[in-house]
Amino acid sequence: MNNGREQTAYDAIVVGSGPGGVVSAALAAQRGLRVLLAEKNAKAGGKMMTVSRDGFTYDLWPRCQVPVTGNAFETVFATLGVSDELGACLDPTSTEPAIEMKYRRPGERNYRGAAFPQAMADPTPFFNLWGISAEEQERAVTLMTELAIMDKAEVDKLDAVTMHDYLSGKDISAALYGYMAFHSNASLAEPIDLVSAGEQIRILQQIMLSGGGGSYRGGFGHLSDVIAREFERHGGKLVTGARVERIIVENGRAGGVVLDGEPVRAPIVISNAGLQPTVIKLVGREHFEASYFDAIGKLVPGWGFTASRYFLNRKVTKVPMLVAYSDETWWNLERYERFCSGEIPDEVIVFATVVDNYDPEAAPPDKQCIIAGTICPPDPEVAGVGALHQRVDRMFETQWPEIWSAIEHREYAGPAQISATSRDSVLPGQGGECVGLAQIVGQCGADKPSVESPIDGLYYVGADAGATGMGTHSAALSGIMVADLITRRHRESVAAQG
Ligand SMILES: Cc1cc2nc3c(=O)[nH]c(=O)nc-3n(C[C@H](O)[C@H](O)[C@H](O)COP(=O)(O)OP(=O)(O)OC[C@H]3O[C@@H](n4cnc5c(N)ncnc54)[C@H](O)[C@@H]3O)c2cc1C
Repeated sequence: MNNGREQTAYDAIVVGSGPGGVVSAALAAQRGLRVLLAEKNAKAGGKMMTVSRDGFTYDLWPRCQVPVTGNAFETVFATLGVSDELGACLDPTSTEPAIEMKYRRPGERNYRGAAFPQAMADPTPFFNLWGISAEEQERAVTLMTELAIMDKAEVDKLDAVTMHDYLSGKDISAALYGYMAFHSNASLAEPIDLVSAGEQIRILQQIMLSGGGGSYRGGFGHLSDVIAREFERHGGKLVTGARVERIIVENGRAGGVVLDGEPVRAPIVISNAGLQPTVIKLVGREHFEASYFDAIGKLVPGWGFTASRYFLNRKVTKVPMLVAYSDETWWNLERYERFCSGEIPDEVIVFATVVDNYDPEAAPPDKQCIIAGTICPPDPEVAGVGALHQRVDRMFETQWPEIWSAIEHREYAGPAQISATSRDSVLPGQGGECVGLAQIVGQCGADKPSVESPIDGLYYVGADAGATGMGTHSAALSGIMVADLITRRHRESVAAQG
């Protein structure tokens, strides 16, 4: 008996091999499910893809891992039995400088600089950079301590409050508010007046307690490469350069996908293509309740980030992470709107990773590679991205002249390229978001979209659904959740078939 369902070559089809997709596929294959993983790009990884060119191995985007220890990839690698291949870089307990920060105080023309280790128990270097009074320092310590020790239930309650609203009730200096606003841009790719306080505090706690600037030997893409390899070793079939055009839904149930014009059947479909592209484009309005479909269309995409990839003719810096900001350069909704209406700011925030200071083999011995960027809208067609690239260049020219003078080759990318390597644009202004639906208030905690869709057999996986935390970590957590769910469902279905 087949329970009214036809026999298929696959138990599950996964659409897309970003961290969420590849994790769910590999864990399901390891548990014996027959899984097809279809990826439109030439290789796995989605937005955490790493490329190798001309002796350099680099992530396409400036990126770091939070938390450094105890993250979802550790769990996945352990489950797959390949922990020795994780290759985590940067010891969070090291006292070596890990971050070089430039900050321009209000009213001053020049930036000041300081370098901090990962584990920074003493906030004095921050306070010196900001130039805040002893009383402001004391209040800053009080707030940071409150955040560090806040218990889970309290943090969860703040999922429904923006970080701006949360901080507005606190007596803190403009410098500390500015740092939080910068952090919401640089770490979460969102503005402080849209980001969920619960999510930002969770991430701050992880940074404080488990480290916040991690990466991997071979880049983040090494993780997806190993997981994809294990997926195939467990019998999974990975097809790359293969775009899923449609998810087949029949009688309210997922039945497979249309892949390069051909139907491929399976009773379970897991989409890593983004919640909005999945619902709006791959499945379509006719298969959902109107209220659900409309609610998905109203979800707010997170913001994008630019990439300026600098290839240097010599080694200039020993620090893995470079950042620069001032209280005039972080973006809230108002500054974002100003940019969207054509007002290009003179200066921008900069977040950059020096890839060979994480992994010495990521660049030829006498060269260096820096992946830098700044916050930008997620709209793949937004005007002004070129101007943002110029502003990032100018920040390097003025703040890190020794790096600027060593650049022999540059590459630029922005939301159009983010969209091309990950999710389709199916709504005006959407497609080039860094994280996806991200940590935006109203879409987190109890309001976070579930990994289970209203369509029987259709699941969402990735940063959009189910989990919490920074992009890659939350996407991988979502992959673990979905693998558990579909394995259970598959086993029940097999048991029911006798
Ligand atoms: C500039 C930038 C900086 C970032 N910085 C950080 C950081 O510092 N730390 C961090 O943790 N995260 C960071 N992120 C976010 C992180 O990369 C994402 O949150 C994460 O990759 C999302 O994973 P995902 O599983 O949701 O899928 P994605 O990475 O979005 O991958 C989706 C996959 O599905 C495929 N796909 C889509 N549609 C189809 C289709 N129709 N058919 C077949 N395949 C399809 C895509 O090609 C892609 O491979 C950053 C992202 C960007 C862009």
